[in-house]
Amino acid sequence: MSSPLGDSISKVELLDVMGDDLTVVNAARVSFAKESTVLDEKDEKLIKYLAKNNHITPFFHPQVRFRLKMPIFVAREWFRHTIGFARNEVSRRYVDSPPEMYVPQELRERDPKLKQGSKETIVGNNDEIVSRLADATKLAHECYAMLLDQQVAPEVARMILPQSMYTEFIETASLYAYARLCRLRLDPHAQREIQLYAEAVCDALKDKFPVSWTALMG
Ligand SMILES: Cc1cc2nc3c(=O)[nH]c(=O)nc-3n(C[C@H](O)[C@H](O)[C@H](O)COP(=O)(O)OP(=O)(O)OC[C@H]3O[C@@H](n4cnc5c(N)ncnc54)[C@H](O)[C@@H]3O)c2cc1C
Repeated sequence: MSSPLGDSISKVELLDVMGDDLTVVNAARVSFAKESTVLDEKDEKLIKYLAKNNHITPFFHPQVRFRLKMPIFVAREWFRHTIGFARNEVSRRYVDSPPEMYVPQELRERDPKLKQGSKETIVGNNDEIVSRLADATKLAHECYAMLLDQQVAPEVARMILPQSMYTEFIETASLYAYARLCRLRLDPHAQREIQLYAEAVCDALKDKFPVSWTALMG
């Protein structure tokens, strides 16, 4: 698989949406003891004004819940977004089923000009290295299974599992929190794999909050 979302394991599943563009408008209009029932042109202008002028609290009221499944090395970055997010994650202290691993089929080259990031080009000896990566991943699987066989506790055995292992979590956050995450992680400097997850979240939310999302994403 060439990207985490190109496989059948990765997941960005929209579970629940509380609110819509009107929720934002009415959170703002309560200051004047006013309420809109249908989103009109004035309301759209208000949303744009709020976003542009950093009046962000009305965007905290819509709440969105996702089920997400991504490799640990992507989740490690995702979890740095803390304010406005609630998360519950699968625990390998309790779960000892065979872990699922991400083994990309194309390995991007290091960019000598950048401290972080990568080139779009694939390493010259890609196939050979992918095969070695798959072998190392299999070895980690086998060692994990051996530790469990030897009655090592799952919470201890898990230490052998690589960062390519998938983790799954349920996440609830405000519309504003997701817009902030997406703005940061859609940046070309962000890791390609996290960009793909941010794109999927972006696709889900722009349909549900067409005016607010466009206003927040600039
Ligand atoms: C391209 C890229 C590269 C990165 N590289 C690194 C790296 O090399 N090393 C690394 O450690 N991290 C790195 N990060 C992570 C980055 O430092 C942030 O932790 C991450 O982007 C989440 O930022 P956030 O503002 O959404 O955080 P959140 O914790 O969600 O905070 C949201 C906002 O709340 C406010 N806030 C939060 N906490 C405080 C506080 N204590 N005091 C005052 N205001 C607060 C701030 O306005 C903040 O922007 C990188 C992020 C990106 C996008």
